[in-house]
Amino acid sequence: MKNTVSGDNQMSDKLCFDCKKQPINFERSNRCCSTCLDIRILRQNNYVKNNQEAVSKCRHKYYINNIDKIKEYHKNIDKTKARARYKKYRDENPDKVRERKRKCTEAKPELYAGISKRWRQNNLRRSNEILAKSTRKRRAELRGCKEHFTLDEWNELLKKCDYKCLNCGNTTKLEADHIIPLSVGGNDTIDNIQPLCRSCNAKKHIKTVNYKQIHGIKEVRYKYG
Ligand SMILES: [Zn+2]
Ligand SMILES: [Zn+2]
Repeated sequence: MKNTVSGDNQMSDKLCFDCKKQPINFERSNRCCSTCLDIRILRQNNYVKNNQEAVSKCRHKYYINNIDKIKEYHKNIDKTKARARYKKYRDENPDKVRERKRKCTEAKPELYAGISKRWRQNNLRRSNEILAKSTRKRRAELRGCKEHFTLDEWNELLKKCDYKCLNCGNTTKLEADHIIPLSVGGNDTIDNIQPLCRSCNAKKHIKTVNYKQIHGIKEVRYKYG
């Protein structure tokens, strides 16, 4: 292999096609040095921004003509990184994601209704949890509560209580009971929540009974978002 002339240059001894001064940075490109590559990328991004319609037409044409190649490519790439990146984006831009989802659902209602229906069928437990939570939240909001316990907190509390009703030990139909009822000014935060079965919850009605205290159970309180 041919050594580089300058000796301390690790990248290459070929000069950038653009500026013809700096060596090509083969890690990033096989044409340019790093500086020129950045300029190219910037120019490209600007072009895309200013010619959105033409670019999307061109991309669509490419997609139609190379559909098999593209499908094959997507089948083989490692999706974990992309998933992680998208999750980060979702966490950082909840409003943008919601807005985009709303637009998509409006444009193709049947398609998206089908998708959510399938998700609900495949994730029944989670789906019921979410539904129950939104009902509870709405009820609490009507009472003027601004902070709400999260599903993670509720699941953590259930685990601590061995997934049992704190009064009778029943393991089915557990509900999140407000120790101090919302109707008499109780909060909707996890410190005011205990798992009771449906019948114990109904019997307790608007009394304030702290079964957690009786059993010496402490809840974990997470950060509220
Ligand atoms: Zn250059
Ligand atoms: Zn019970």
